[in-house]
Amino acid sequence: MAAAPRLEIAAQGAKDPRTLEFLRSSPKKLLINGKWVPARSGKTFESLNPANEEVLAEVAEAGPEDIDEAVKAARKAFEDGPWSRMTPHQRTKLLLKVADLIEQNREQLAELSSLDNGAPIMGAQGLVTSAVELFTYFAGWPTKIFGETNPSAPDMFNYTLREPLGVCGQIIPWNGPLMSASNKLAHALSTGNTVVLKPAEQACLVVLRLGELLLEAGVPEGVVNIVPGFGPVAGAALSNHPDVDKIAFTGSTTTGKEILKASVATLKHVSLELGGKSPHIIFADADMEPALNFAAIGIFGNTGQACIAGSRIFVQEKIHDQFVDGLVQRAKAHKLGAQFEPGVTMGPVVSKVQHQRVLGYIEAGKSEGATALTGGGPGPQPKGYFVQPTVFTQVRNDMKIAREEIFGPVAAVIPFKDENDAVLQGNDTTYGLAAGIWTRDISRAHKVARRLKAGTVWINCYMVLDFTMPFGGYKQSGQGREFSNHAIEMYTQMKSVFVKL
Ligand code: NAP
Ligand code: MG
Repeated sequence: MAAAPRLEIAAQGAKDPRTLEFLRSSPKKLLINGKWVPARSGKTFESLNPANEEVLAEVAEAGPEDIDEAVKAARKAFEDGPWSRMTPHQRTKLLLKVADLIEQNREQLAELSSLDNGAPIMGAQGLVTSAVELFTYFAGWPTKIFGETNPSAPDMFNYTLREPLGVCGQIIPWNGPLMSASNKLAHALSTGNTVVLKPAEQACLVVLRLGELLLEAGVPEGVVNIVPGFGPVAGAALSNHPDVDKIAFTGSTTTGKEILKASVATLKHVSLELGGKSPHIIFADADMEPALNFAAIGIFGNTGQACIAGSRIFVQEKIHDQFVDGLVQRAKAHKLGAQFEPGVTMGPVVSKVQHQRVLGYIEAGKSEGATALTGGGPGPQPKGYFVQPTVFTQVRNDMKIAREEIFGPVAAVIPFKDENDAVLQGNDTTYGLAAGIWTRDISRAHKVARRLKAGTVWINCYMVLDFTMPFGGYKQSGQGREFSNHAIEMYTQMKSVFVKL
């Protein structure tokens, strides 16, 4: 436990005393059946601050036997615990209580989330607000999930019931851990399911703190189990477990395909929120300032670690050079640094692996003939996984940096001639998560929105999320829709009941 004496250095600048207090009680444990327990194997892993590579805490590492315990607890809670007997109204109140507790612990959660993955504190605070909104929005649903009475013969009475699926395995990535966890949990709990949640090992501390708040709110034992661990071990054990009814996964397309394969043996329900290579299309008649600001936020926000990053920026030839100048200026204006340093607008990427991966893509871009007008290498910091915000021009849509998801602050700017060219190039990708369009021509905006093969299209804005709107991917960006009434369908199943009168 080398973590304790160096903790002040690791968590440098955290203001809320409860942040250090939480980290000091290391090793962090697994939440199984309402209790905090060590891993059966006794194994732990180190959770690092990516801004300085120091250890924040040791965390119990879930293995297959812990996953099995967690699934058993979730099954028991689903079949015969107090959870299964709660009224819809009681569930609503419980979820609202969780939202309140998140609000009351706002600063600590923002700090933990920011330490977990390196995001500047301001960004992390925004995601705490999203977590509150998610629990509040989904708290409204338990009392509004309806079945139907169906047209039947005079001697029959036929109706449907919409029921929960059962035990849901949920696997999330590290780029917005509090929001991802809140999103997945709020979906499952509002629909009456129970959960085994595996956060990404790189950013699980804030998710463990959320687990404490769920218990404090009164979520009954076994309803939510949280089991940090490694994907190929803990994640695979969960996605292969025969007693799991649904897997909800957010992460890379490659892992998503593994999850889908694993679901076949017991025909689990599966929903997948996967990667993207989203086209952000700027027509020559666009309102230039906001288009530039959002293009920059679209690729540099969260250090480019966003599934919906607008990573291919298509700019109409006429304004190409002028637009690129503006984008380069905005890239250069970023201040890289650690979470709590004043004025910092961009944090590191999450891990050494990601650092090498993103830098590898930058090298690939250069060797394929693209030009890095700014950035193009690691940050100047002696420690931490920093990458300079990078703008590539002379990019063709068939280059590696335009085809593969980089998940870093690397923009590929690609010129286009006209509307048709923009649509054809924009759609020429295996992904289909999101797209952006900037134009003052309203009918062109709607025409292009219809033609783009993406689950979300933003017109004259970008990265706007609203939990009343469905979210998910076309093509290899996913299956199913989160948020909104459509998510409720995804976490429930229909039973048809026939009554002979
Ligand atoms: P990843 O490698 O697929 O990991 C995501 C999660 O899956 C982690 O918890 C990981 O565990 C786990 N995992 C890894 N291998 C597994 C396996 N064989 N079986 C079961 N679980 C396994 O993705 P990432 O690189 O961390 O995250 C970035 C990706 O997520 C990007 O592609 C991004 O676009 C996508 N993403 C999508 C959305 C969306 O809503 N569409 C949102 C955010 C991110 P460990 O990391 O602990 O090993
Ligand atoms: Mg970390």
